[in-house]
Amino acid sequence: MYDVIIIGGGPAGLTAGLYTSRARLKTLLIEKAFTGGQVMTTEWIENYPGFEDGISGAELSQKMERQATKFGLEIIQGSVIAISSIDKIKKITLEDNNQYEARSIILATGSNPTPLQIEGEDTYRGRGVSYCATCDGAFFRNEKLAVIGGGDSAIEEGIFLTKFADIVYVVHRRDQLRAAKVVQERAFANPKMKFVWNSVPVKIEGEERGVTSIHIKNVKTGEQSSLEVAGVFIYIGYNPNTAFLRGLVELNENNYIITDDNMSSSSSGIFAAGDVRAKPLKQIATAVGDGAIAGVSAEKYIEENF
Ligand code: NAP
Repeated sequence: MYDVIIIGGGPAGLTAGLYTSRARLKTLLIEKAFTGGQVMTTEWIENYPGFEDGISGAELSQKMERQATKFGLEIIQGSVIAISSIDKIKKITLEDNNQYEARSIILATGSNPTPLQIEGEDTYRGRGVSYCATCDGAFFRNEKLAVIGGGDSAIEEGIFLTKFADIVYVVHRRDQLRAAKVVQERAFANPKMKFVWNSVPVKIEGEERGVTSIHIKNVKTGEQSSLEVAGVFIYIGYNPNTAFLRGLVELNENNYIITDDNMSSSSSGIFAAGDVRAKPLKQIATAVGDGAIAGVSAEKYIEENF
């Protein structure tokens, strides 16, 4: 029996684990892939306070993990498929049928990249279609690439891809970027970044070895054209990982978990933190804040209920 089980090992989950472990609560963190979550697949981070020269996503993830485990946080790899609650005890079932029990749960499952859902996307996934520039960028030295989207992820990762590629086309559905101004300025000053405005992808084409082109449509004129590229990096937002939680906690219309200021979900003893929570700003800095609050709230809940 654990005091706290945390599901998800990104910054929110690791911070929650740091707080509950320091409170001497027996805590297990279950992560389905690798600790760090999206941070782990981010090349460089320069807006997380305390690292004035920036820090790589991998290093920040490792530091957070080491800091939390130093105080006793246990971490296992596993995919949670179900949570049930009987007489205040929560039972968690993993894909491999292992079960764990806890007095409280902190949901920090984050989100996954939204797919474009166009022809060729699935066919060439892993053969030119990617959602992670840090993971796949180096495969595209001296190639032409397309990045889809105009937010922070698309533009920051697009700039990163210019380390390898000759040209990075940013295909964006409007004629203005959503990314932070400082990131926009850097992108516009980069001669390898080419902007394809008011355009959406309609089809990805390729051959046996991978992607060869992307077909795009101008949303203003309806005109279609194609760009010869060896890779397409898709950054059009994220979907929360809450499919396994339906019926357990209240979700908003976009399937994010609704919490109060203490990170309490609609279900007693179940808290949520980080990108999986309905909130206006999704950043590492806000995820760790959520994690800290969720950890302290879980501690209070256990004190009052057990
Ligand atoms: P985002 O801010 O939601 O941007 C998604 C982009 O994709 C937008 O430009 C959007 O266009 C476009 N888009 C959405 N659906 C589309 C579709 N079906 N077809 C074509 N284009 C589509 O997502 P994000 O960039 O992944 O960022 C997610 C959150 O993480 C944001 O809060 C962001 O600030 C944060 N983030 C922060 C940093 C940082 O601070 N360093 C880094 C990465 C992410 P419109 O602009 O027209 O809506």
